[in-house]
Amino acid sequence: MTQQATPQGVPYLSLQQEFSSLQEEWFSRIESIGASGAFILGPNVRAFEQEAAAYVGSEFAVAVANGTDALVLSLRALDIGPGDEVITSPFTFFATAEAISVVGATPVFADIDEASFNLDPASVAARINGHTKAILPVHIFGNPADMAALRQLAEQHGLKLIEDAAQAFGARSGTATVGSLGDTGCFSFYPTKVLGCYGDGGLITTRDETVRDRLLKLRNHGATAPFTHDELGYNSRLDEVQAALLRIKLEKLEQDIAARSQVADWYDARLSSLDLVTPRRPADGRHAFNLYTIRHPRRDALRAHLNEHKIGNSQCYPLGLHLQQIYAELGYRPGDLPVVDRVCGETLSLPIFPAMTEEQVDTVCQRVAEI
Ligand SMILES: *Cc1c(COP(=O)(O)O)cnc(C)c1O
Repeated sequence: MTQQATPQGVPYLSLQQEFSSLQEEWFSRIESIGASGAFILGPNVRAFEQEAAAYVGSEFAVAVANGTDALVLSLRALDIGPGDEVITSPFTFFATAEAISVVGATPVFADIDEASFNLDPASVAARINGHTKAILPVHIFGNPADMAALRQLAEQHGLKLIEDAAQAFGARSGTATVGSLGDTGCFSFYPTKVLGCYGDGGLITTRDETVRDRLLKLRNHGATAPFTHDELGYNSRLDEVQAALLRIKLEKLEQDIAARSQVADWYDARLSSLDLVTPRRPADGRHAFNLYTIRHPRRDALRAHLNEHKIGNSQCYPLGLHLQQIYAELGYRPGDLPVVDRVCGETLSLPIFPAMTEEQVDTVCQRVAEI
């Protein structure tokens, strides 16, 4: 995940500097946790849930073990399972569709918008039928999905709306923070995410108290009281050590997003005159720039060139989930979702992290310009 910076190279992501700057405060909080003896779902988790809910602008938040679980528990809490269809984007990390499948429902893949890389509402609308139970948009790379249009579709057809905001903590759709717009909002704190911890973590936001109560039960083995179980749940709990770090990092999240945004501005200024497409920002809202992903007509040549010069990069995403082997039985063929197919052949994510310097952006852009 992280690489050491080489003299001429630029790492895709570097967290060492951030770790050094937070280490003292985090370690002292870990000492208190050790002294208290409360390691799982303790006061730091409860405080973080409140602080995160307030930040997102949602009534409740439930911390879980990771972002994948946030999706799985959301689907379960909204009673989505066998026989149900959930319309989602195939241009995402596998966990989005995997969560739908592991609860026994069927992912239905819609096409994406060429500029935003997010679900195309018209393509979603065309796939709604009697089995559809939910729409699951992904705020891909930190760029908010078209929530106004998707919410209208959900309301019109009586569907649940579940936001995969794993890459988008702090992104905004209009003035609303993502995660506050659906029935649930699902976040990941995997270290590479906008708000990342130093381990695994996840969170679900919701406005609905009944859903919150069900989530609290599901994350702890379906227990209604100690040793009392009325349904099958999961062991999906956040620990105090990660929650303590997340509280520290949430306090400086606005600074981190501003720093990411600055890096994106530096890139835009240097790359916009080249024969490539820079990331589209929302007309009304805020991109959290978890990733800075360009489209390039000679992506594979660019990638090889960057690798040769030790410029970190990632192919997010090389193949639409509709064409993954595991979903062969769903019967999608290349060309069924033409925008996804095209975008998968042209996208490349460049290095971006809050501590990245303008000189590092220069180095990356010089190498990009050589192709
Ligand atoms: C990271 C990610 C997830 C899964 O989160 P984990 O914490 O790794 O389980 C889900 N969806 C998207 C879009 C992601 O980027």
